[in-house]
Amino acid sequence: MLNHTKQYINGEWVNSTGTDTIEVINPATEEVVGKISSGTEEDVNRAVQAAKEAFPAFSKMSVNDRIKLLEAIAEEYEKRKDDLVNIMTAELGAPITKSEEIHYKMGLSHFKQAAEQLKTFKFTEEREKSYIQKEPIGVAGLITPWNFPTNQISTKLASALAAGCTMVVKPASQTPFAAVILAEILDKAGVPKGVFNLVNGSGSTVGEAISSHPDVDIVSFTGSGEVGSGLMKNAAEGIKNISLELGGKSPFVILKDADVKEAAKTALAQIAMNTGQVCSAATRMIVPAEMHDKFIEAMKELVPEFPVGDPQDKNTFMGPQVSKDQWETVQSYIKKGEKEGAKIVIGGPGRPDGIDKGFFSQITVFTNVKNDMTIAQEEIFGPVMSVITYKDLDEAIDIANDTIYGLAGYVFGNDKEELKKVALSIRAGQIRINNSETDRSAPFGGFKHSGIGREWGDYGIEEFLEPKAIMGMPL
Ligand code: NAP
Repeated sequence: MLNHTKQYINGEWVNSTGTDTIEVINPATEEVVGKISSGTEEDVNRAVQAAKEAFPAFSKMSVNDRIKLLEAIAEEYEKRKDDLVNIMTAELGAPITKSEEIHYKMGLSHFKQAAEQLKTFKFTEEREKSYIQKEPIGVAGLITPWNFPTNQISTKLASALAAGCTMVVKPASQTPFAAVILAEILDKAGVPKGVFNLVNGSGSTVGEAISSHPDVDIVSFTGSGEVGSGLMKNAAEGIKNISLELGGKSPFVILKDADVKEAAKTALAQIAMNTGQVCSAATRMIVPAEMHDKFIEAMKELVPEFPVGDPQDKNTFMGPQVSKDQWETVQSYIKKGEKEGAKIVIGGPGRPDGIDKGFFSQITVFTNVKNDMTIAQEEIFGPVMSVITYKDLDEAIDIANDTIYGLAGYVFGNDKEELKKVALSIRAGQIRINNSETDRSAPFGGFKHSGIGREWGDYGIEEFLEPKAIMGMPL
């Protein structure tokens, strides 16, 4: 059992000022993985003080040295591959192959991307009447969720380091051990003391203390809208910058000329990936009415290609929900969908056949869904798909945009004009046409209730900078 009750503050692992601990549970076995400290407000104060003291020197570190630092972090990260892959399977329940192919690689990509981005990033600009310099905001408070334990932290911290900010990180209590390894990586890579601090503990204590601390200049948060809204109130009180990456209910528009099998396969992968615990997952399939029956048939045939079960098994595509609470939430949405008149055509409530322990759900597909039903409007964060039919493309676009969210959108088919029309009409921060490759230099973030601000690439670095305009600068 892992026992990690220290906090990483000012370049050292130190005892928490409190003695309470939080147990981390393996969601596949329901056994305890280990314990972390349930940090205190005093721990946060020490970490913020360290970050504040480190800021004047770190903010002046040359861009070249910051590139070297990010490259050194990426190198150390690669050395810890096995540890990272194994811990994300234990604490999140990510299937071992996905832990490596998705989680480990995503976490790494942000350090490499930020280093690349810095090579061309313009921190200064000469205009006719002014000189503009972009300066790091100051101390950043980074609060992250459990669904991608390394990726969620590394996207924020790589951007913050690239910008020249110092920081205090609070990872999710359900997946803190990947964050502990990240801290060890940063320490090994030579991040100067105080620049990066890690305080484990609950959102209500550690998260609140970070977001309301007067010396934290920006809060960058990924998580639920409810918590994000509370953090925004704290930011308002303290006149802080805030960036929020929140939920989604993303549409997947299938064009009439799409290959049904390919579309069905892509759709299933969308909801089964990370057990549906993906903020940008496509969960509303918007399908031509005449294609509906074929689409459902194709999915029924393809479901066995997405095996659910033991995360240690290399053939497993989908593991458990992260926790009992999350499993119960998913189950309650499945029951609500049935109650509101939607029809289950794949999966349903309860665990998959043959599994009697762990927080496993079934891949569940609803048809007869109206876009105003709860299952089509609220984020479920589980492997639950709503299939909604349309008659013409304008109706498909209206359904796609009939949501409070705007994180991502997907369009699948062949007609170039229609692909473009849908991509340009969906009101969301990131659109994917067919199975296009992810571009980590492009901005990621949401319209509407999906958030404020952007991560990844140069847009991610901009979040941690303040522009200063100088008029009359002798040049
Ligand atoms: P959450 O409950 O909002 O928690 C996220 C983080 O906030 C955790 O570290 C949590 O700590 C902390 N927290 C909780 N209460 C807090 C408070 N009062 N003050 C400060 N921090 C607090 O969300 P979640 O259940 O972990 O994640 C699921 C949600 O995140 C979904 O809605 C999903 O869509 C969204 N999400 C969005 C993105 C994106 O990029 N847009 C990515 C992933 C997830 P504890 O762990 O200790 O509770």
